[in-house]
Amino acid sequence: MDPLNESLPVPMMTVLSRKFWEAAKQRKLAFQYCSKCDMLQAYPKPCCSECGGEELSWKELSGEGTVYSYTVPRQVIDNSPVFAKGLPFVVAIVQLREGPRLISNIVGLPPEEVKIGMKVMVTFEDVSSEIALPKFRPLVSES
Ligand SMILES: [Zn+2]
Repeated sequence: MDPLNESLPVPMMTVLSRKFWEAAKQRKLAFQYCSKCDMLQAYPKPCCSECGGEELSWKELSGEGTVYSYTVPRQVIDNSPVFAKGLPFVVAIVQLREGPRLISNIVGLPPEEVKIGMKVMVTFEDVSSEIALPKFRPLVSES
């Protein structure tokens, strides 16, 4: 476990998000899927944000994506020491191969080496006994 995360706030598991977090703990990225309109949604909701359908299942994704956009915070405005000690880090919008976008961190390389369009792969970071955060690292092609 990254010692940085020991005091960072941890996401709360809710009835809606439980399956997402259970999958993440097993190193899987799973999103809600609406079979009525063939849509994946990144953030759990009681119904499909596209058609309003309530019959949602969960689908495992590949974990592959590209960096759609990103920013590198270099200071914290509220002087939060737990966030300040992790600076600088990369906050990115990752375009997942299957369609949805997810806000996460890019890890495993210096922030100045992150590029828009870069291929990335999900990786999971345990932050509590129940929660593993999906983050993304550069996808190294096996050639
Ligand atoms: Zn739908």
